[in-house]
Order: sequence, then structure tokens, then C-alpha cells
Amino acid sequence: MSPMFVPGPVDVAPEILAAQTLPMVPHRAKEFETVFQRCEAKLRQIFETQYRVFIMTNSGSGAQEASIRNLVKERVLCCVNGSFSDRWYKVALANGKQADKIEVPMGQAILPEMVEEAFKKQSYDTFVIVHNETSTGVENPVKEIAALIHQISPETLVCVDAVSSLAGAKIEMDAWGLDVLFTSSQKAFALPPGLAFCAVSDRGMARAAQVPNRGWYFDFVLLEKHRTKDSTPMTPAMSLINALDKQLDRMLGEGLEARIARHGGMAQRSQEWAAKMGWPLLAPEGYRSNTLTVICNPPEFDCSAFNKFMASRNIRLANGYGDLKGKTIRVAHMGEIMPADLEVLLAGIEEYMGQLK
Ligand SMILES: *Cc1c(COP(=O)(O)O)cnc(C)c1O
Repeated sequence: MSPMFVPGPVDVAPEILAAQTLPMVPHRAKEFETVFQRCEAKLRQIFETQYRVFIMTNSGSGAQEASIRNLVKERVLCCVNGSFSDRWYKVALANGKQADKIEVPMGQAILPEMVEEAFKKQSYDTFVIVHNETSTGVENPVKEIAALIHQISPETLVCVDAVSSLAGAKIEMDAWGLDVLFTSSQKAFALPPGLAFCAVSDRGMARAAQVPNRGWYFDFVLLEKHRTKDSTPMTPAMSLINALDKQLDRMLGEGLEARIARHGGMAQRSQEWAAKMGWPLLAPEGYRSNTLTVICNPPEFDCSAFNKFMASRNIRLANGYGDLKGKTIRVAHMGEIMPADLEVLLAGIEEYMGQLK
């Protein structure tokens, strides 16, 4: 495998790629329904939820859209601290919803006091936040914010995009009282792109039933009707679901806690390495991602030249996102990346810097 330190699509283990080549069966056949049912049961363990997890044939952005269409009755509050959270706000507007935003500059976190302030001025039936901003490597304090919202506005439903962190960072759907929690297949789950996994609480389902114009493809009520029969309303990406079945076994074999600790260890190592190099981290202390370390590189470091330099070692590093391109590097240490792979990357960066002199 050639380690790609990019936040999706990530490396996929060979046996998981191979699982996609299983022969087709009718998607309403018992054999496939059995696979679907056991995938959902395993997903509930990863999401730490007793509720349902929809297996959707679309990328994570589809789950952003689904949460807006199904839950927003009157008005939604969106937290924006980077490119992916800004997309969610735009998704709300594009679906004709009344949406306000709390916005902080890229590299900063959304804090509970900002949320409290916003609720003093206006009420919201839905609240959306990105757990791990993939453009900046900032992890928002979702647990604290969710607890605050339950206290000050108990009717508000809390939706969390954990696309680049779920299965690589601690997120407890039920214990934290989240109503929607979703991720994509191609990030910390280390699967090919094409699936999203979206858990919805009973409160979330009750709300959906009251919201008009939910559309069809993303309708939680319709998805639930079929899920209870171990199926989907439309034809699912069966080959990807076969790969999911195998990958969930690998993930649970490693153990969720151990997996999260592996990611945390690599985050720690990346942070310490940056300090040693004298390269600042973009995210403030206390709000640093477990799956992705964003480092402010010196001007002489050129990410694409570095990737050419490392091409013979099959290593690929992600440049900064949007306006942060050229100014930051994104060391994604998620999915199949192991601490030993990270050492090869960090040594490679040092070697690259050394030969510039
Ligand atoms: C990648 C990403 C998305 C978009 O997911 P797609 O699967 O590409 O649609 C949304 N939110 C976050 C935080 C992401 O990292």
C-alpha cells in the first residue's frame, strides 16, 4: 500500500478492495438483506447508538442535505469555521430554509458561549455543526455544545457532520444526545467513496414526520420504512456494502477504543514533530483534530514539489484547503495509516527540507 496522507479518499486495504468483486445478487434477496442487516448492527457499535443508522448511496454531502431537508421546520443555526461547515450553511440556503450562521475565522473553534449568545437573539428548531473541520484541523467541542443546547433549548435538534472524524475520534451519539450524526465511507472508515452512514435519533424521526417537502431520495421516513425490512427504497451500491461488511469486521477487530487511540497517538506525534521543526499548528490547543494535523509550513516548503520528491516512495501529502493552500499542509493520519507510515512521511519532510539548503 502507498500511504496517502490526504483527508479522503484514503487508502483502502487490498482485501477490502477485493470484497467489491463479489457477484451480484438481487438487492431484495435474502442473502443481501442479511449483509445489510449485519452492517447496520456493526455501524451502531461504531456510532455508539441504539438508534438507526441509514446506509446511503451518496457521499457525505448528501447527508448534509438530508439533515436539512428532514429536520428544519422554521429555522436552522449553522456553525461555520471552515470550508465544509460553510458548505452545510449553503446547503441549507439552497434548500430554501431560513438559516443563520455563527462564523469564526478559519483555524478557530466554535465555542459554547457563541452558541449561547446566538440562542439569546433567536430561536432555532435545528442546530448543525461540523465535528472536525477538514479544511483547518480544528475539532469543535461538540459534546459541550450539545449539552448546552439541551439545557437552553431542549426542542432544538442537534446535527453533527463527523465525516472526517467518526471511527478515528471519540463521538458518542446517544451519550452526547445527538439527533443526527453522519460520515462518509472514504475518510476514517477507509473505504472507497460512494456511501454515507447517517444515524438518526427517535426525536429526529419524529421531527421528520412533521416536516413537509422532504423530497424523496433523502426522506428519512421512507428510508426507515425500508430499513426495518433490511433494505433501501432505491438500489444501493451493493459492492461497496460488501466492502463495508468486511471493513467493519476489521475495525471492530482492532477495537473502537484502540482505533481511536491509534489516531490520537499519530495526532500527538504530528503535533510534537511540528513543535520540534518550529512550524506552528493552525488549530489552537484543546481544539486539535485526532485524525488530521494542519501545520503552517515555511514559505520554502512547496507541497507539490515535495510530493514529486516522495513519488518514488509512493507518499502523498495534502496541501492546504482553499485560501490555506501553500500556507499549510494537512497531515491526514486516518483510516489505514499506521504510526510507522507517519514516521516515513515526517522523515521525508525533514530530508526534503535538508536538500533545499
Ligand atoms: C469530506 C467532507 C465532507 C464532504 O463529504 P463528501 O463525502 O465528499 O460529500 C463534508 N464534511 C466534512 C467535514 C468533510 O471532511
